[in-house]
Amino acid sequence: MNVDDCCAVCAEPLEWTGVSICGHKETCSKCVARWRFVLKDTRCMVCKTEQPRILFTRFMGDFTTRLTAEQYDDLKRRADNGEVNYIAAIEGYFNDPNHYQQIK
Ligand SMILES: [Zn+2]
Ligand SMILES: [Zn+2]
Repeated sequence: MNVDDCCAVCAEPLEWTGVSICGHKETCSKCVARWRFVLKDTRCMVCKTEQPRILFTRFMGDFTTRLTAEQYDDLKRRADNGEVNYIAAIEGYFNDPNHYQQIK
């Protein structure tokens, strides 16, 4: 394990992360969810660009899921279809049902 595998905010080992169109995956899902829910701040914590939606997914280093613009725009439709779980309060999408339960 090296420093790249730890959250840039809380320094806990990264297991789950929140990714958006900017591709940053250095912050853990808990920090991303807290940032969006408590502070109502929807910017990426790394590059500070506005991220209207966020996908919570397992952290797998360079193999972590990356979203294309099409996939990003498609998240809402997939949530409507029940393919991914969705938490409206944080505009957060989850491709893992167990992790969705944890964050919820
Ligand atoms: Zn963290
Ligand atoms: Zn970013």
